Amino acid sequence: MDVDVAGSVRRRLEVVRDIDLVLTTLARPAEVVRAFADTPGVRDAMPGPPHTVAAASARLELVDGTVCDLVCVRPEHRASAVWRATGSEDHLRDVSVHAAARGITIERGELHDHQGARIPVADERALYAAVGLVYIEPELREGRGEVAAAARGALPVLIETGDVRGVLHCHTTYSDGKASIVDMAAAAAARGWSYLAITDHSRSAFYAGGLSPEDIARQHEEIDRVNATRPGVRVLKGIEADILPAGHLDYDEAVLNSFEIVVASVHSRFTLDRRAMTARILRALDDPRVTILGHPTGRLLLRRPPYAVDVEAVLEKAAAVGVAVELNADPHRLDLDWRWCQVAKRLGCTIAVGPDAHSTAGLDVMEIGIAIARKGWLEAAEVLNTGDVDRVLAFAARRRGSSAHRA
Ligand SMILES: [Zn+2]
Ligand SMILES: [Zn+2]
Repeated sequence: MDVDVAGSVRRRLEVVRDIDLVLTTLARPAEVVRAFADTPGVRDAMPGPPHTVAAASARLELVDGTVCDLVCVRPEHRASAVWRATGSEDHLRDVSVHAAARGITIERGELHDHQGARIPVADERALYAAVGLVYIEPELREGRGEVAAAARGALPVLIETGDVRGVLHCHTTYSDGKASIVDMAAAAAARGWSYLAITDHSRSAFYAGGLSPEDIARQHEEIDRVNATRPGVRVLKGIEADILPAGHLDYDEAVLNSFEIVVASVHSRFTLDRRAMTARILRALDDPRVTILGHPTGRLLLRRPPYAVDVEAVLEKAAAVGVAVELNADPHRLDLDWRWCQVAKRLGCTIAVGPDAHSTAGLDVMEIGIAIARKGWLEAAEVLNTGDVDRVLAFAARRRGSSAHRA
């Protein structure tokens, strides 16, 4: 038996409400579903919604509250069942409308020609081809113009995890991280990256062990020592500087100038009204030492909504002044929301996908961040840290050089 993960898990949605699985079997689908429903760990089993022809389905509630939608089919229905169970509803509708214009009807995932004969499809690629479309990656299937783009051959070539050359947001034991600089460097090298910016918290983030100017001097000496041992990555001197309520950055100019990378983030006063918060962030973007705007809306998924801010104005300004906007890969954040990435693209805004790692294992969230970047239609060239270290430093230097309006 084969198992395909479908639904919002496969589309890599940031919040998943249930798990959709498609089981493909040579046995009788109804018996397979019944066997699953009787498995220990299943608290409740309900009949599933009607699915693909010749399928059996069930909605299982597991003892931990997880809801799992099962569809079980015979091999000849696998592709259409997986496609349908992957969704989204909006995507399925757009594909169906596109197919209908070509005389093909799609019902419960199955394709039929104008005489009602079933069109067999071997896999999803064949399904899209049958309706005159190129393959559409699951992350894009949200009904946000991907079918029209596929029809005119204008889909993006999506970024992949392997395109990442380094990361520009992480913490160490100097602030609230759990690992040393040398351990973080080794972990970055082990992941095949060539650079890593250490961006501990700044002074105002006292609750997170924000760094005093003396701590910074000590850290910079340590980074020089680590780099001298050729650790396999270039360790960059960075900081995650708080954007203070009026839009100024922590530290004076001289301290800020000592960093190679400055991530500027809001960590306080989340309740400012939209005008004040937008003005605060726009003001911070005016500071030429800022390289990246960190987690730009401050949301914590399922816990804290984004603060009130005019995201489009922020993206527009960031693009105009040459500051990258972070797509923070922490699974609690995933901020910038992927729905804004297409706007960022249109405005020519560079995105930096950052792990905001507080441990060596925290670096692994990059895979999630890249999945979200893919949902946002991003290509490798649109993401700062797919470039080598020289490109990253040139990006920061360009911003500093064009300091027409100093804060
Ligand atoms: Zn932060
Ligand atoms: Zn951080």
